[in-house]
Amino acid sequence: MEENAEACGLEATETTPCDEAKLLDAAYMHFREAVSHLMLEPGMAELLWRGSRSYVVEFPVRMDDGSIRVFSGYRVQHSTHRGPAKGGIRFHPSVDLDEIKALAALMTWKCAVMNIPFGGAKGGVQCDPPELSLGELERITRRFTWEIARFIGPERDIPAPDVFTNAQTMAWIMDTYSILAGYTVPGVVTGKPVDVGGSLGREAATAQGVVYVIRESAHYLGMDLQGATVAVQGFGNVGWHTARLLSELGCFVIAISDVFGGVYNDKGLAVRRDVRAHLDATGSVVNAPGTESISNAELLELDVDILVPAAIEGQITKDNATRVKARIIAEGANGPTTPSADVILAEKNVFVVPDILANGGGVTVSYFEWVQNTQKLFWQEEDINSRLDAIMTRAFRDVLRIAEREKVSMRTAAYILAVERVAVAARLRGIFP
Ligand code: NAD
Repeated sequence: MEENAEACGLEATETTPCDEAKLLDAAYMHFREAVSHLMLEPGMAELLWRGSRSYVVEFPVRMDDGSIRVFSGYRVQHSTHRGPAKGGIRFHPSVDLDEIKALAALMTWKCAVMNIPFGGAKGGVQCDPPELSLGELERITRRFTWEIARFIGPERDIPAPDVFTNAQTMAWIMDTYSILAGYTVPGVVTGKPVDVGGSLGREAATAQGVVYVIRESAHYLGMDLQGATVAVQGFGNVGWHTARLLSELGCFVIAISDVFGGVYNDKGLAVRRDVRAHLDATGSVVNAPGTESISNAELLELDVDILVPAAIEGQITKDNATRVKARIIAEGANGPTTPSADVILAEKNVFVVPDILANGGGVTVSYFEWVQNTQKLFWQEEDINSRLDAIMTRAFRDVLRIAEREKVSMRTAAYILAVERVAVAARLRGIFP
């Protein structure tokens, strides 16, 4: 099988030193593993891994003090085999072409696992938003949009929010693009405010999707969600809504954390009344009423039925995986488990629902937003959630079927499914000329 990966034009990991804590290297390992289970024709794996187009733009912006600063911006369209490219735009000092390429490829696999008609993309501007004024952020966003305007569009490539960008950023992108087009083009971005064509249900979509795959996992494992114990790392968009929705379903959320530390109550936390209210009042969950303190490291090792890492990458590693006691890990975050932790968790029979499946609810509701913009017709929130449930459940079952057939982890199965789907599209469309 390893030979098949070699035959497909991929370099061996031995000659490509990998730092598995890095998203790009971890993604490469998962991709290679999937390829080793597929009979791809020569060149196909290389075509799928290397991706299509990378745009790098250097652009000037007038700062508040009158000076001019030049920023680097990136937009990578990894694949358009299955439809327009789709993926977020992040504003962060660490943004570079390699990071954006890795994240664009992850979007290709995620959209393919969810079976939505998009390829994968990602973009970014190297800047430090906490240091910038609102006016500077708006000018950076608008000039960057102008720079990439000819490469994006509702039928080409559709950006969305990511790290340090939000619904307001999307409204600026949509406005700038629309000025250039001469008419309003809401479908050029997703994650917009509802008032300018955003979708109901987008705010909680990722968490809602995490909860649907947890429900399916529990059903598969014969676990009753009523009274199941849960720990959630991270209490931002994904963590907060996941903890809230799981406690509404009758789970006991016994631990929650953020970047400052965590809170614990073995009888179950009052997620909204105590933890959310304390976060709103103080900026952190730490010391919420009726809780004991717990560290992020301790939270990951709690004796719970379900663990939801919903913060950042590289949290479950070879150093702590042996002490993880959860039966189900649902990856709300991207890349929270390293490849060597995966091996340990598999030996311990922990059921890991991988990021490209577990957190695919966000991009799925982005797809719904794009469909609504294209149709100029808006759906009710119940409609959004029932369609999301159907797509998440189908994706979960597709992945599970491959995991059972190939006797591999859910992660490898998800990558096999994704790579296979993109390969089918690439094969059908053929090579031009
Ligand atoms: P967010 O910024 O809203 O929240 C992040 C949370 O993680 C915060 O509570 C923060 O305090 C906490 N955190 C940050 N660093 C931490 C650390 N070192 N240890 C513990 N906690 C830490 O982000 P989000 O939108 O909730 O995204 C969380 C994860 O989910 C990210 O990996 C993101 O890529 C992934 N994700 C998000 C979406 C989405 O729709 N928001 C979709 C797919 C994947």
